[in-house]
Amino acid sequence: MLNIYKYFKPKKRKGLLIISSIIFSAIIFCSIKFCMSSKTERDISTEDKIFVENISPQENKINYNLKENQNANKQNKEKEKNKNSISKKEESVHVSKIKKIDEDKDYTKLYPDLYCNRPSEQIVPSKTIFLTFDDGPSDNTTEILDILRQKDIKATFFVTGNATPKGKSLMKRIVDEGHTIAMHTYSHNYKQIYGSVSAFLEDFNNIYNLIYESTGVKPTIFRFPGGSKNSFNKDNYIEIAAEMRRRGFDYFDWNLSAGDAVSRVCTPTQTCINNVLGHSKNCDHGVVLMHDANAKVTTVEALPSIIDGLKSQGFNLSKLANEIDPAPYSLIKPYR
Ligand SMILES: [Zn+2]
Repeated sequence: MLNIYKYFKPKKRKGLLIISSIIFSAIIFCSIKFCMSSKTERDISTEDKIFVENISPQENKINYNLKENQNANKQNKEKEKNKNSISKKEESVHVSKIKKIDEDKDYTKLYPDLYCNRPSEQIVPSKTIFLTFDDGPSDNTTEILDILRQKDIKATFFVTGNATPKGKSLMKRIVDEGHTIAMHTYSHNYKQIYGSVSAFLEDFNNIYNLIYESTGVKPTIFRFPGGSKNSFNKDNYIEIAAEMRRRGFDYFDWNLSAGDAVSRVCTPTQTCINNVLGHSKNCDHGVVLMHDANAKVTTVEALPSIIDGLKSQGFNLSKLANEIDPAPYSLIKPYR
């Protein structure tokens, strides 16, 4: 290569040497830089390499944040794990405490706010019927409320734990339109609620709080899922009823029914009407069992005829309250 220089004049040779030195230095510098960046790439995981190869500076920032988030998630999972083991310990302490309460039958230790004042009893006038709807709120509740408003009738809704915004707003509408809102347990899970007195109280406390939170009203009456005496609670229904009554809460069964819950298939509309009107004509007063769960469309269809039929039989339609004696409608005799 040095032989090339001899073709240039001595003055030009000097300049050419300087340019060559600069080019050579630049090549060396680039090679070192390339080696260093390759090393960085080899040191990071495949997942991160994808980020390095394909992303803009802005995306890089996002991916950095993602990485940060992944790390934070890992830490959160660890914390959650620790928390779970603490809450499992708390749970087992809670379970043994409840077990002891059930053994001692000392329910006064549970839910100190779950009480209501029992007002003095009101005489129910002759020829009074109370329409009641269980298992809502659902879309059918909306239609039932429309019918009741149109017919200017007040009724009673035994609600379950529908804590969706729509469920809560329907509970509020029930109250705002002057009906009675009452409890039918939160879960409506027979095995769970009838497992023990304290299990019933726990569920009852949940529905009580949901109603209060949704409506601002503290409910005072309830209905046992399946009625006050059924095959799931035959061993403890007296105990549950006694504890609820000690707390001031009365329950209502029924002496008339639309028969809209006898099977999973909808009872025909005309059968619902006949079931109520066929038996009500022999009553002086009564509580009618109906359902406003989602599937009960024929109940909605039957309701206007049931209301008109009861009116033409000379009945006043009213709503239940804690001051009404539930005994005449109870499935348990004697009630108290
Ligand atoms: Zn029910």
